Amino acid sequence: MNRAFLDLDGVIVDFHAYMRAHGLTGDEIKRQVGAYLDMPAIPGALAAVRSLIGMGFEVWIATKPPTGVPHAYSDKAAWILRELPELKRRIIVTHDKGLLGDSGDYLCDDRPHKANCEQFKGTLIRFVDGYHWPQALDYFRARSPVLAKQRAKLATDQGLAVSVPASKPEAAERPSPDRSAPERIWLQVDSNRRTEDLDERFPANASHVTWCAHPVGGLEIEYVRADLAAHTAFSDPPGDPATAPVETSHCT
Ligand SMILES: [Mg+2]
Repeated sequence: MNRAFLDLDGVIVDFHAYMRAHGLTGDEIKRQVGAYLDMPAIPGALAAVRSLIGMGFEVWIATKPPTGVPHAYSDKAAWILRELPELKRRIIVTHDKGLLGDSGDYLCDDRPHKANCEQFKGTLIRFVDGYHWPQALDYFRARSPVLAKQRAKLATDQGLAVSVPASKPEAAERPSPDRSAPERIWLQVDSNRRTEDLDERFPANASHVTWCAHPVGGLEIEYVRADLAAHTAFSDPPGDPATAPVETSHCT
C-alpha cells in the first residue's frame, strides 16, 4: 500500500525543545502528567504531515510510549487529536513497530534502532544526521501516487508517449520552455484546512489555491509544467541551457 507511519517524538513533536525549555531530564518528563500534551510541534512538521496526505499517502501515527506510564498514552493521543484531528482514527501506540505495514509502506522514525523499527516490513526512513522533513518530502514527492497520476495525465493531455519518438522534431519545431517561470511549481492549498475527509484532495473553493516556486507548508501539490515536460521529451539531455532552473522567490 501507500501508507506512511510517522513517529511522533523527534519527527512531529519537539520533545527536546520541551526538555530544554523546562530544564527537565527525559525521565522527569516521562513521569510528568500532561508533559506530552504541552509539547510543541517541530516547525513545519504539521504542514509536512498534511502534505503527505495531499500527496495521496495514507498517514498513520506510530508512537512508542514510555513503558509503564499510562498517562503518557492518553497525553500523546490528546496531542494528536488537538493538532492533527484528521488522524483521529489513525493512531497506533506500540512498542513494536516491526509489526506494522507491508513492503509498499514507509516508516519515518528518528530512533530507528528502537521499537523494533529495523523489522518494519516496508521502507524505513531514518530521521537522523540532519535528515528531516525537507529531505523526506522530496523523497515522498517522487513516490506520490497523486503526483504520478498528474504527471501521467499531463503526458496524455500533451500527447506525449512514454517511449522516445521515432524521429525528433527539428530544433525549430521543439516546444520552447518559458525561462522566466520557475522550473518547479507547487500549488498551495489552504494550510488552515482540516482534512476531515481524506478523500477530498482539493478544496471545493479553488480561489483559496495559490502557487509557489518552492514548498513552504500546507497541503502542497507539485505540478509539472507542460512546457518543460514537452521540452524534456524532445530535447537532447543533459545540460540543455534552455532548461536551466530559474531563480525566483515569488509567491502569490
Ligand atoms: Mg522518536
